[in-house]
Amino acid sequence: MRWTRAFIPTLKETPSDADIASHRLMLRSGMVRKLSSGIYNFLPLGMKTILKVANIVREEMNRTGAHELLMPVLSPAELWKESGRWDVYGEELMRIRDRHKREFALGPTHEEIITDIVRREIRSYRELPLVLYQIQTKFRDEIRPRFGIMRAREFMMKDAYSFHENEESLQETYMVMHEAYTRIFRRCGLSFGAVEADSGAIGGDVTHEFMVFADSGESEVLHCVCGFSATVEGTGVEVPEAEGPKDPEAMEKVPTPGMRTVEEVTGFMGVKPHNLVKTLIYTCGDAHVAAMVRGDREVCETKLAKVTGLVPLELASAETIEKLTGAPTGFTGPVGLKGARLVADHSVTVMTNMVTGANEADTHLKNVNIDRDFEPDLVANIAVAEEGDPCPRCGESLSSYRGIEVGQIFKLGTKYSESLRATFTDPSGAEVPFVMGCYGIGVSRTVAAAIEQHHDGDGISWPISIAPYEAHVLPVNVTNDKAMALGEQFHKELQEKGVETILDDRDERAGIKFKDADLVGSPFRVTIGERGLKKGIVEVRVRETREQTEVPVDDAVSTVCKMVDEARREFNLD
Ligand SMILES: [Zn+2]
Repeated sequence: MRWTRAFIPTLKETPSDADIASHRLMLRSGMVRKLSSGIYNFLPLGMKTILKVANIVREEMNRTGAHELLMPVLSPAELWKESGRWDVYGEELMRIRDRHKREFALGPTHEEIITDIVRREIRSYRELPLVLYQIQTKFRDEIRPRFGIMRAREFMMKDAYSFHENEESLQETYMVMHEAYTRIFRRCGLSFGAVEADSGAIGGDVTHEFMVFADSGESEVLHCVCGFSATVEGTGVEVPEAEGPKDPEAMEKVPTPGMRTVEEVTGFMGVKPHNLVKTLIYTCGDAHVAAMVRGDREVCETKLAKVTGLVPLELASAETIEKLTGAPTGFTGPVGLKGARLVADHSVTVMTNMVTGANEADTHLKNVNIDRDFEPDLVANIAVAEEGDPCPRCGESLSSYRGIEVGQIFKLGTKYSESLRATFTDPSGAEVPFVMGCYGIGVSRTVAAAIEQHHDGDGISWPISIAPYEAHVLPVNVTNDKAMALGEQFHKELQEKGVETILDDRDERAGIKFKDADLVGSPFRVTIGERGLKKGIVEVRVRETREQTEVPVDDAVSTVCKMVDEARREFNLD
């Protein structure tokens, strides 16, 4: 490809609204352009990389025996109502109406549609297991789209669904997918970990998230020397006791005028945040839940939704709180609280003489004790885990890293096959629901994650497996006939040898051409300078290490081919 014939609108300036490297560099290198909040155009350079990632995903999925299909973006509301998710999914589900006033969702995921296909076509256990997948545009109405294509409202996903006769068969496919995902992310040149996570709105029990290590990542992962790892929302990790028990003292009201936050109340009363219990009211339709966690901890809404079975949960409005507790926000407590199900974190049940809100304006209670002063309806693990909490397997203290979630695999069980009445005939002749799994990869997000891991101050430094171009031929001065002729020759020969090459044939200042080459990040560059040419040499440069070697003109193509071969070999996993 000649640069003058390509469409690569690079930017010199860093766009002001881009706050992470991948967002900045995708804009600057001309890979993407923003159309609207959370909605992006993929320009040709971006599309090349997307297609490379999609192709790796496709090859590895096909290798497992999965079959590719394509389902519509528009999915009829009836199916979502059948599964119950039309009401449960909340504001993130994009909904539209057609001219006949029929409702549709713009698919964020396709469990309902695939289950509908399979319930109509598959009759017998003999046709199982079956794995189907697609690579397609997905929609999610993010409340705050950010980080460019990392958290966009429209993005590209691979979603796969498996159908089984029983749990053992699902387990087998789950492990096959775990292995396929490992190969996919390795082939994309990523450092990542597979962690136990919560299944969120999709449902089901067992799930693993694939996390690309990156400081800019939105997810916090806890891990242990024993090999355990989980997201901070993952089940299993419990908040350890902060203080041993004391003798219970008499409960007392304390005036706390205008003090609503943990800092204000504990500062005023001279106690530690871990001596206080915050009580937060959540609502789901007409149901209310009062969640109790220690003052130094946060409520994990995902865990709370799971243990209460209430989805989606939202923090109650000021009016609801006032109606339920008789006090304004900031003074809620468990003593005498009615009209809400009281759910306490495990760590609350081992506290003595705690400080809580008094359900009375400008008032708190001290020396509140469980059983004597209040009784929770449910005790469960509902707090966000933190670095330093004990490992649920071995008790060691957990450390943490940040990551970008690029893939997730779930065991769904019979959640969707039961609600959608999708059954088959088992070997005994009985009609039973399919056991299901689902497996997603954020294709466009994987591209952004790769940039987060592979960039420096000058631009992107692509792993060769997903680079838009493998080699970059740069004649410094295109008005020098000899240099330009050599550039043309290298470009042609490299292309003929199967190396994807771009020739920067622009009549531009050398500085601009070098900057752009570093920005778009082809792994190898051949620079044809006038001075070197007099000595019969050109420069071959490795983008990642910035190592530069002088090579005789006649050896340039073979040198680059050899480097490309070696680099590619790293990603061939056979
Ligand atoms: Zn451990």
